[in-house]
Amino acid sequence: RAKSEGRNTVEFYTSDMTDEVLKRMMFASQLRSALDDDQFVLYYQPQYDLSTGELVGVEALIRWQHPQLGLLCPEEFIPLAEETGLIVPIGDWVLRRACRTLRRWMDAGLDLNRMAVNINLSSKQLRHEHLSEQVLNVLKEFNVPAENIELEITEGTLMHDPKSAATVLQRFMDEGIEIAIDDFGTGYSSLSYLKRLPINKLKIDRSFVQDIPESQSDMEIARAVIALARSLNLKVVGEGVETEAQAAFLREEGCDIGQGFLYSKPIPEHEMVAHFTENALSSSCAGSAVRV
Ligand code: C2E
Ligand code: MG
Ligand code: MG
Ligand code: MG
Repeated sequence: RAKSEGRNTVEFYTSDMTDEVLKRMMFASQLRSALDDDQFVLYYQPQYDLSTGELVGVEALIRWQHPQLGLLCPEEFIPLAEETGLIVPIGDWVLRRACRTLRRWMDAGLDLNRMAVNINLSSKQLRHEHLSEQVLNVLKEFNVPAENIELEITEGTLMHDPKSAATVLQRFMDEGIEIAIDDFGTGYSSLSYLKRLPINKLKIDRSFVQDIPESQSDMEIARAVIALARSLNLKVVGEGVETEAQAAFLREEGCDIGQGFLYSKPIPEHEMVAHFTENALSSSCAGSAVRV
């Protein structure tokens, strides 16, 4: 905190720091026991084909049901999980949980053939040498087709070490697991790497979507990302779509998929089956479940 507040706060640094350090240590030890105590939950946010309105995916988003603090969003604990290395076992939990749930949906007879569960990977996970074996083992264990799983990696993570990332990603691609670059536009991609990386999708970062149509420059950026994706033969997802105007803009510019509060907030796991069913029912009626 002292860093971002600048020089004026230097005199308070010591006491602030002690406080912060203690808080962080306590939080880290709670985070460590959260896995054993089964305090993590997954929410799922639907993604829709912008031209047909069809449900094409859901993104798995972790939350921590903290015993004192309530439901915590990933921003509140993922950074600490990354610093402490706890992101590796937590990421493993996310993967297993998502695959288990996908298996249950399939067993319940839901038609998920054209739908993938998107799972976020952090940089520590990507650097873990057995990541690809581990992912493939979990798919096998839960008997989940690779086509129904997609991995999201942020642009920043990929561009940090694109060469070794390429090796891991190629392994996934060979197995039929698709890869999306998350938060695209925020990470200073090297275009020559982008061309060579085995990836399938770009997700336009929410920060470039939120001020459409007021911000001319954000519209230019979104347009440029869509054009870039086109030329590299990648699909594009607009994230953080909150308004009809944003959806219309993205659709007209050729963005393939939309995700955001306009369609749905992230939904707790136990409500998903009802959501799928409702969606199937209403899209078989005259209109479509999604306003496209
Ligand atoms: P992300 O992967 O870019 O996920 C999208 C985030 O945008 C989610 O926040 C989602 O709730 C939010 N969002 C979606 N639509 C809208 C919208 O229309 N408006 C606004 N304002 N926000 C919207 P969430 O769930 O808080 O997750 C934040 C970030 O935490 C994720 O960003 C992802 O980077 C990370 N994260 C979440 N789950 C995991 C996980 O299992 N593992 C790892 N490593 N990271 C995760
Ligand atoms: Mg994501
Ligand atoms: Mg994203
Ligand atoms: Mg984002």
